[in-house]
Amino acid sequence: MINRKFLAPLLTGIMTVGLLAGCSANKANNAVNSEESSPTATAQAAEQVVNVYSARSYDVDALLYEKFTTETGIKVNIIDGKAEELIERLKREGESSQADLFLTVDGGVLNNAKQAGLLQPVTSDIIDQNVPKELRDPENEWIGLSTRARVIVYSKDRIKPEQLSTYEDLISPAWKGKILVRPSSSLYNQSLLSSFIELNGEAKAEEWSKGLVENLARTPEGNDRDQAKAIVAGVGDVALMNTYYVGLLLNSDDPEEVKVGQSVGVFFPNQETTGTHVNISGVGLTKNSKNKENALKLIEFLTGKEAQTMVTNENYEFPVNAAAELPELLKSWGTFKAQKIDFNTLGIHNAKAIEIMNKTGWK
Ligand code: FE
Repeated sequence: MINRKFLAPLLTGIMTVGLLAGCSANKANNAVNSEESSPTATAQAAEQVVNVYSARSYDVDALLYEKFTTETGIKVNIIDGKAEELIERLKREGESSQADLFLTVDGGVLNNAKQAGLLQPVTSDIIDQNVPKELRDPENEWIGLSTRARVIVYSKDRIKPEQLSTYEDLISPAWKGKILVRPSSSLYNQSLLSSFIELNGEAKAEEWSKGLVENLARTPEGNDRDQAKAIVAGVGDVALMNTYYVGLLLNSDDPEEVKVGQSVGVFFPNQETTGTHVNISGVGLTKNSKNKENALKLIEFLTGKEAQTMVTNENYEFPVNAAAELPELLKSWGTFKAQKIDFNTLGIHNAKAIEIMNKTGWK
């Protein structure tokens, strides 16, 4: 059983939506909030818990925590929020923080938490075996839980994969009025542009952002899934999207979404050049963790074969553990060449990426 916690008044304003929307099944019943009164601490002393500040809100996450609790008897308390807000909260709470783990998407964000001194190294042979070195922080202050590729998704009716090649090609005149992408406020897009800054330099990245804006089919709006829906509605022909959203559309309860998933193809760009942009979702042990052993057990569980197989079969992300069994859909996409960059650089270039997006009119 997962215990979700409704937040102290101080934070209610910023996190209510994520909490309610991201919460799939559970009623809040066990307080973990350090800003709340003492019965919580007493109750927690009597039971095994691990407290997670999470910026991930996929349905599979709740299933994983439930399974962990069933197997270990350790309760998982989740506090949902946006990554930046959770980082600010960890800073503010300091030593009194009840958080044991910080879980988020994006290598840049994981690096921000590390640089702010909010995490501590994890030592575990099991984790080292489960997760290859390149998907962990060099000091083991964060551990990858899944990877995600940001690709070109295209209309199967109107576009042949042979017409597609690279991210850079999307700014050629042939694509004028045909490209869909969500707003620049999305970290997914910021990190995509950060990767171009890292690989090609600022000037090239700016040229690309400017060209992309000129070729857009509409002012950016909606989330990744909405871009696929707009392709099917005929608004544009290609979209920049994370691959797992195609998996989620294909396996949706909504028949209209299934149709959208069936109407689009996945293309991995830059296979002859710099590789497809890949980002990471990961977890770090907090500096002031009070339930360190339980937190380690949860990281070991989340990176294990069984949990990793669930992540890829339920959420269609790529597993970090090579022993995980892939779903047929991912097998059908085949293997691909990924960008070879340090995930931490996505955070280092984030401010510059946002500056370029603003300058080039990426709404
Ligand atoms: Fe996502």
